[in-house]
Amino acid sequence: MTRHEREIWFLTGSQGLYGEATLRQVAEQSRQIAEALDEALPFTVVWKPVLTDAEAIRRMCLEANASDACVGVVAWMHTFSPAKMWIAGLDALRTPLLHLHTQANMELPWDSIDMDFMNLNQAAHGDREFGYIQARLGVPRKTVAGHVSDPSVAERIGAWARAAAGRAEVGSLKLARFGDNMRDVAVTEGDKVEAQRRFGVSVNTYGVNDLVAAVDAASDAEVDTLTAEYEDLYKMAPELRSGGDRHDSLRYAARIELGLRGFLESGGFKAFTTNFEDLGGLRQLPGLAVQRLMADGYGFGGEGDWKTSVLLRTLKVMSAGLDGGTSFMEDYTYHLVPGQELILGAHMLEVCPTIAANTPSCEIHPLSIGGREDPVRLVFDAQPGPAVVVGLADMGERFRLVANEIDVVAPAEPLPRLPVARAVWRPRPDLRTSAEAWLTAGAPHHTVLSSAVGTEELADFADMLGVELLVIDAGTTTRQFTKEIRWNQAYYRLAQGF
Ligand code: MN
Repeated sequence: MTRHEREIWFLTGSQGLYGEATLRQVAEQSRQIAEALDEALPFTVVWKPVLTDAEAIRRMCLEANASDACVGVVAWMHTFSPAKMWIAGLDALRTPLLHLHTQANMELPWDSIDMDFMNLNQAAHGDREFGYIQARLGVPRKTVAGHVSDPSVAERIGAWARAAAGRAEVGSLKLARFGDNMRDVAVTEGDKVEAQRRFGVSVNTYGVNDLVAAVDAASDAEVDTLTAEYEDLYKMAPELRSGGDRHDSLRYAARIELGLRGFLESGGFKAFTTNFEDLGGLRQLPGLAVQRLMADGYGFGGEGDWKTSVLLRTLKVMSAGLDGGTSFMEDYTYHLVPGQELILGAHMLEVCPTIAANTPSCEIHPLSIGGREDPVRLVFDAQPGPAVVVGLADMGERFRLVANEIDVVAPAEPLPRLPVARAVWRPRPDLRTSAEAWLTAGAPHHTVLSSAVGTEELADFADMLGVELLVIDAGTTTRQFTKEIRWNQAYYRLAQGF
C-alpha cells in the first residue's frame, strides 16, 4: 500500500473529573485505536495526548490549522467531554474534521460490568454531547460510527482521509495554461479568482511560445533516451520505430514531452491545459506527452479547460495507491440501441493510460482540426469495471460538481478505425436518466473518469470545501434529481449569506 506523506491527527476528548488512573486508561485505549487506524489507512495517524480542558483543545485545533503535514483531524470522546470546552477550538478549526463514534471494547462484559467500566466506556453519550455542539456550531464534518476493527469503518475513514489529501493538494495547486480557452465555448470558462478562494488553486496563463522554447531546447540525447523508452513500453507502429518512415514524428513527440515536463517541474506546476487553437510554434498538438504526464499524476484539461485539469490532479492525489486509473474524459457519442445503451467516451488524443485494459499502442494519424502535423498518440480500450465520471461547472454564483456512477464495459466489437484511446460505459441507472439528469444539472462535456476513487471520496471532498455535489447513481430518478437541484439552489444561496 502506497503511503501518503500526509498525517491524520487523532484527538481524544475527556475531562479532569475521572482522576489520573482513568485518564491513563483513556490515553492507553485511544492510543490503541489510533494505532489500529494507522495500520488500516495509507496515512500516518498521529495520536495526540488526551484533551481535558478548553485551552488545550483550542491550542490543538490551532496547531492542526498551522501544520502543513496534517490534512485532517479525527475526534473521539472516549468518556464524557463537556462540549462547551470545545466551542473555541471547533470555532477556530479550519482542518477537515471526522467524528469517530466508537468505543474500545466490542462486547459488553455482561458478567463483570460495574460502574467503573461504565464511567470509562461512555462514548455512547459522550459522543452525543460532542455531536450536539458540532451541529449547534454548524461545523462541517463526517460522522463515522462503529468499532474500529470493522473494515467498513476504516474504509469510510480512508475515503475521508483521501478527500482530505485532495483538499490539501488543491489548496496549494499551481496550474499552467498554455493559451486561453477554446473560443466561444461556455462551460470551460470560469471565475479563477473564485476558484482560488474556494479551492486554493492558482491558475495562470503562459504564452505557448514559452513552452515552444522549452521544447526546442530539449537535447538530441534526451530525445534518443525517451524514444527508446517509448519503444520498450508500447506496441509501436512500424512507421514510428527507429528506422521507420515517420520516426521523426515520434522524436518530435518526445521533444514535446521533455519540454512540457521540464516547464512544469521548474515552475512547480502539477496541472496544465492546452488549446489546439493556440499552438504557436508547436508542430504537433501534444498527445503522447499529455497522456504520459497524466499517467505520472499531472492534471490536464483540453481546450483550456482548467477546471477539469484541477479536478483531475485532485483525484489523482486522492487515488494514490488504489487500484484503477483516473483520466481526462469527454462524452463523445452514443450507442442508442434500446436496452443496450452505451456511451463512448474519448478525446482528440488525451486519454490517460492508467485506465487502459492492455498495453497501449503508439500510433500516428491525421487530426482533422488544429492544422498542424499529424500527432503521435497512445491508443487503447479502457479496463472494464465500476467507475465514476465527475465534472465541475461554474454556475456563475458557485461551483457545482456532478458525478455519475458508471460501469465501463468492453466495446461490443473491435474499433479498428478509431485512432484514439476510448472508454465505453453504461451509465447508472440507465442512459436516458443519466443523460437527462446530467443535462438538467448543466454539467460539462469534459469530465474526469476514475475507477480508483468513488462517490464517497467525492462527497467528503465536496463537503470539506462547501461545494455542491449532485450524484447520479442506481437510485436516481429524473423527478427527484430535478427537485434536488432546486433545493440545492436555495440552500447554497442561503449558505452564502448576504
Ligand atoms: Mn474537448
